[in-house]
Amino acid sequence: MRQLTCAAPNRITWQDVPEPRLDGDGEALVRPLAVARCDIDLFLTSGLFPMRGPFALGHECVAEIVELGDAVTGLEIGQRVVVSFQLSCGGCGSCAAGHTGNCDQYPVLSDYGMQPLSGTEYGGMLADVARVPHAQAMLAPVAPGLDPVALGSVSDNVLDGYRAVAPHLAAQPGADVLIVCHGLKSVPLYAAQTALALGAGRVDYASDDAEALALAERLGARALRTDFEKPERRYPIVVDAGLTPNGLRYAVRATEPEGTLQSVSFYAGGDMPMPLGRLYTLGIRFFVGRAHAAALLPEVMPLIAAGKLRPGEVTTRVVEWEDAATAWGEPAIKLVVRR
Ligand SMILES: [Zn+2]
Ligand SMILES: [Zn+2]
Repeated sequence: MRQLTCAAPNRITWQDVPEPRLDGDGEALVRPLAVARCDIDLFLTSGLFPMRGPFALGHECVAEIVELGDAVTGLEIGQRVVVSFQLSCGGCGSCAAGHTGNCDQYPVLSDYGMQPLSGTEYGGMLADVARVPHAQAMLAPVAPGLDPVALGSVSDNVLDGYRAVAPHLAAQPGADVLIVCHGLKSVPLYAAQTALALGAGRVDYASDDAEALALAERLGARALRTDFEKPERRYPIVVDAGLTPNGLRYAVRATEPEGTLQSVSFYAGGDMPMPLGRLYTLGIRFFVGRAHAAALLPEVMPLIAAGKLRPGEVTTRVVEWEDAATAWGEPAIKLVVRR
């Protein structure tokens, strides 16, 4: 079968690879229909993380089930599903606790399409077939009538944006939210969308990126153009989404005393300065860590089915499957490849 592969930094090609097969009665094979590019993908293909040879691309997708193991119940061949980008078993202590991103059965960062991070090739979603080793734990049915292209990023970035604000707004209903976007493309926009959908008082979006600000405004947030020097005011809930020390410092300074600062940033490589003294003195609660995809899907899918969350509004470019090798490396806030 054909698989979109990163052969070397910035070299993306279709390659022929063996088609995966069922390897147990709890597994599924799926055929990806719409694959979205995650905010981390361009860093993977650019070689920011050391490459260990060619690797399969794509980890956010809506797919169709084409084969099911005998032990899988509640799912059907032909059904459309969102596939958790993280491999998780659903049965271990970590999965039972909702920490499906750190399943006991897999080494850390065991995800599709991210071999440079985990060191293990689990396959990618830009392929004709993908193997899902724990079908019931990792697949979430898509309600009939929903467009796979609009849901392309739900496997990962949409969930990441959701969890950045949902628990904090549940603890402080109606609170004002500031999203600080300093390099991540789509996760902060999904966070803004979630905050608006869940009844935040006011949602402000601080960034130095004109395209991101315009899109945030279209979603209903208030755009704050900033150079990340000094925040205008402080907020009870702040989301840090980016890459830079300046952006993180701005997010800290924009958080109210006793407020909540949630980071969705993957500060890989090097040390990021963090003013712990300020956090201590002001009683700022700082949350950091990855989203837990399989655990979040049952919470987020009903919001999408009900039309409360509309992730398709963040998509800025849709291309055909045949054009993926060229388009995958080109800039876009949210790229979706459809079959
Ligand atoms: Zn991702
Ligand atoms: Zn597990």
